[in-house]
Amino acid sequence: MRYISTRGQAPALNFEDVLLAGLASDGGLYVPENLPRFTVEEIASWADLPYHELAFRVMRPFVAGSIADADFKKILEETYGVFAHKAVAPLRQLDTNEWVLELFHGPTLAFKDFALQLLGRLLDHVLAKRNERVVIMGATSGDTGSAAIEGCKACDNVDIFIMHPHNRVSEVQRRQMTTILGDNIHNIAIEGNFDDCQEMVKASFADQGFLKGTRLVAVNSINWARIMAQIVYYFHAALQLGGPARSVAFSVPTGNFGDIFAGYLARNMGLPISQLIVATNRNDILHRFMSGNQYVKETLHPTLSPSMDIMVSSNFERLLFDLHGRNGAAIASLMETFKQGGGFSVEQDRWTEARKLFDSLAVSDEQTCETIAQVYQECGELLDPHTAIGVRAARECRRSLSIPMVTLGTAHPVKFPEAVEKAGIDAVPALPPHLADLFQREERCTVLANDLKTVQQFVAAHGNRGKPL
Ligand SMILES: *Cc1c(COP(=O)(O)O)cnc(C)c1O
Repeated sequence: MRYISTRGQAPALNFEDVLLAGLASDGGLYVPENLPRFTVEEIASWADLPYHELAFRVMRPFVAGSIADADFKKILEETYGVFAHKAVAPLRQLDTNEWVLELFHGPTLAFKDFALQLLGRLLDHVLAKRNERVVIMGATSGDTGSAAIEGCKACDNVDIFIMHPHNRVSEVQRRQMTTILGDNIHNIAIEGNFDDCQEMVKASFADQGFLKGTRLVAVNSINWARIMAQIVYYFHAALQLGGPARSVAFSVPTGNFGDIFAGYLARNMGLPISQLIVATNRNDILHRFMSGNQYVKETLHPTLSPSMDIMVSSNFERLLFDLHGRNGAAIASLMETFKQGGGFSVEQDRWTEARKLFDSLAVSDEQTCETIAQVYQECGELLDPHTAIGVRAARECRRSLSIPMVTLGTAHPVKFPEAVEKAGIDAVPALPPHLADLFQREERCTVLANDLKTVQQFVAAHGNRGKPL
């Protein structure tokens, strides 16, 4: 499988190189040159497979030529073996023909484990083969950091540096990062905000001299391997609900458009998906596009669903690429307009094409709490605020009551106790057994000034299993 850039000017890469790449050299994102397509009969034959075997069938074409079948099978069995539920991604019923796909049974209790547990193992495999070490730098406002650290903690050839804004992540989220101890794990609390952290990561990718030749790898959702891993659970859910003989609809709590883009790909690979709902919080750039063909940046509002607090959606470029007939020059020019501070609209027929599949809704904090309370009363299910936004949008935007509607349950409610409390529910959820002693564990973290040179010096001084590069 070869991968090409959405802006058309970067060299095509194979899977191994795309895994180790961040942005393409032309500023674009990598996508598969040709998407594999499965027949309905083929998909139907996977109905009874355990999750890791389904994952092998769905993802095999993407890694073909880079990772041997036997190795990939073993990696997938290990990856999904660490999940705390035997079904890996179980479905919970909320109402007639309405479901939540629970994607929070991984080590850090959010769906990001599906991709980052795999990414860590793939990196280890590829780097061992190449006899190469890399450094990962990432910024997090919460969920990504812990999932990335959990995914990479056992990687012999990776040193991971995760920056979070000092005193601005929840205690559960902080402890999920800082209590993972290892000489290749480096938590940095920056005296600044999330954007400061992200800017320093971007600046480090742009000028890597401080790394003395060591490669820098990205773990945010611009990394293709993360999207790839998320395609699988759309197949898994549909197969549990009578697919592919019948269509299924999905509602996806959305920030950077990575998770829902995976659903779009699943559909293009042959899975009958009749509707994809983009569910956002008040930070609603995607809802404004889907409802009114306006892609315009606005100020950031902190909400009760912080993992969806974004101003721009980086993966949206991947959808725009398809909507524009995969014309890289057109995307480069749209993105340049956007960078200059302008928003954009796309031509009417392209927007209409998108709306055949996508609907959207922006949900306020108040409505989020209302939905948490409502669902708790209706069936005793306690939703986290992100999932609640998905359920709200599923109920308001649903096109057909006879098509199963699945909301992606992106996080466990224990990670976001503030929203549960605001919803008026006093049943505080308990931490699952593997995290029960989280508040007693030793923490390790370095507080650094909001200064690029200071951070880069720290990375250079510790990037080789705690020793200098
Ligand atoms: C990251 C995250 C999202 C948003 O996913 P995207 O792929 O960025 O759209 C939603 N919910 C939770 C809990 C998350 O951690």
